[in-house]
Amino acid sequence: MSGGLRLRGLRKSYGDLQVLRGVDLDVEPGEVVCVIGPSGSGKSTLLRCANHLEPLDAGFVQVDDVLVGYEPRDGRLHESSERDIARARLRMGMVFQQFNLFSHLTALRNITLGPTRVLRRDPTEVEREARDLLARVGLAGHADKLPAQLSGGQQQRVAIARALAMKPAVLLFDEPTSALDPELVGEVLAVMRGLAEQGMTMVVVTHEIGFAADVADTVVFMDDGVVVESGPAERVLRYPESERTAGFLAHVR
Ligand code: ADP
Ligand code: MG
Repeated sequence: MSGGLRLRGLRKSYGDLQVLRGVDLDVEPGEVVCVIGPSGSGKSTLLRCANHLEPLDAGFVQVDDVLVGYEPRDGRLHESSERDIARARLRMGMVFQQFNLFSHLTALRNITLGPTRVLRRDPTEVEREARDLLARVGLAGHADKLPAQLSGGQQQRVAIARALAMKPAVLLFDEPTSALDPELVGEVLAVMRGLAEQGMTMVVVTHEIGFAADVADTVVFMDDGVVVESGPAERVLRYPESERTAGFLAHVR
């Protein structure tokens, strides 16, 4: 059972630019959190720091029973070991805007690579699970195709299956439909909705306000490196408390 995800006091700067200025976020097991906000507000950086694709300047990340980052102990801040960071990262799956599939590997091999190489699991069992996952994302007949032979929507569904194959506690999505032609957005959102209904814990950065309204338990509005407001999806989207949230929603709808 997943212990969810806890982000505390995350700070990140690039040079003089403070991109995250102390972000806290709690995601309970089975919860779907949608993160919305203007371009440049730090949403991608938040996911990348949560997943340790970028090193933090301060704060910590707890996923399941693994806590990494800067932990106060004996009156000092202690940075986690690479080993703990690797353990935390294994508990999170990431789905990117640009799919990031390996272009020289088939859909099936894209999915089996992590479980066989990183987790060193039995290839036969991994392949069976990968075929089940392909069926689950509606791509049962496409196992042997290369990414270039698939549409963007199909590639993104392979990317979701690849993330699921690692059996993560939490899935992080960074604008998973932003690179897709409009007619392909629905098929990806439908897969994500299915995962949410099956109890997957998810953090979804998205401009799809309709998806957030339908699927999210919690909506978080970020601006300028901070969480401006967060709460139940309907409350935040229909009755925003902050003028900044209201202004953003008026602009995107
Ligand atoms: P969002 O995903 O909300 O659009 P980002 O997290 O991508 O925002 O970026 C937030 C800010 O940080 C932007 O001003 C962006 O230019 C800057 N930024 C992001 N990544 C880097 C980087 N690797 N180096 C320098 N600046 C960066
Ligand atoms: Mg972004």
